[in-house]
Amino acid sequence: MLKIGYLNLDNPIAIISEESDFRDLASRASSNGSAGLVMLERFNLDEVDPSEIKVTLNRHRTPSALGFSTVGGELEDLVEVAEMAAEGGRLMEVELSQTDGIIELVREIKSSGAALSVRTGPGAFKDLRSLARELKEGGADLLHLDLRGLGPEAPKVVKRVSDGGTPKLMVRYDVGDFEGARALLSMGADMISLSDEADPEFVAWLADALKRFHDLVGWYNAPKHICSGGDLRGIAFCCPPVKNCPLLGALKKINISPKEFIERKLALTKGTPLEPGDGTCFGSLAWCCKITKPCFMRDAVLDRHGISPDEYMRLKKRLAEDLLKA
Ligand code: SF4
Ligand code: SF4
Repeated sequence: MLKIGYLNLDNPIAIISEESDFRDLASRASSNGSAGLVMLERFNLDEVDPSEIKVTLNRHRTPSALGFSTVGGELEDLVEVAEMAAEGGRLMEVELSQTDGIIELVREIKSSGAALSVRTGPGAFKDLRSLARELKEGGADLLHLDLRGLGPEAPKVVKRVSDGGTPKLMVRYDVGDFEGARALLSMGADMISLSDEADPEFVAWLADALKRFHDLVGWYNAPKHICSGGDLRGIAFCCPPVKNCPLLGALKKINISPKEFIERKLALTKGTPLEPGDGTCFGSLAWCCKITKPCFMRDAVLDRHGISPDEYMRLKKRLAEDLLKA
């Protein structure tokens, strides 16, 4: 369902386990195997060496993908630990305390082949957008943002970071229901991390609900339409810019003109299943709305061309990625 570096995750829920002694964790959310990822935290590299981390990781038997977070240590310690992570197929996370030299740090760690997550929070750095962009340029696989305590501001922060360009985005937030999870995912979060104290049954239910949602809709973290407050990925659902609407502001953000947008969308959908669209508002599925917006005209085209609703959304996801990449 989701790939973070070399890790294949079954669902977008991560459990952050703060214990380092795992003998007594039967009742914890990390133990029932329902989370896509379990992260063991946090190993102080000034105090433990890679072999100890490896032993701890190997002791934690789980069907979930496994990672660990680190603090401290010199660059050579981080690289040594990264080599161990790469060898074992684990996700390594570095908790960031300063941005100086961050790109070099990320590149050094990535040169070991490890899948890398960088963790921070809005209190730690003023300009999260630039940090996220730098991490993406440096090749980090995941940005783990701790947004606990932000309340209704959290989805807005996610949207700002996502719109500015970021590696895959994992958000630490105490979601309590499906809608709370969707509020973050639909603004550009790829994953949600929860505490090991979370109710294991709730974690299993949420992970399963998101998997089923993905199977049904084809894009578990699909954005809203731009005019409904969605992040930039929503341009995949936009019509041609023929009137004054929020799309114009979105195009300014990605620095392309309305004319270029039309040309780019047509070029990217030419010869693909999104090209046809007889009877739709703008003659092509390229301009059509999200599948959750009921429309018999679009659905008639999908039927005629044998495109299932989830396949339609997968194609729109790819279109959003290509539009924002170009
Ligand atoms: S182009 Fe259409 S879908 Fe996009 S923001 Fe404007 S009205 Fe909404
Ligand atoms: S045909 Fe339907 S889905 Fe397509 S743009 Fe018009 S209203 Fe949206």
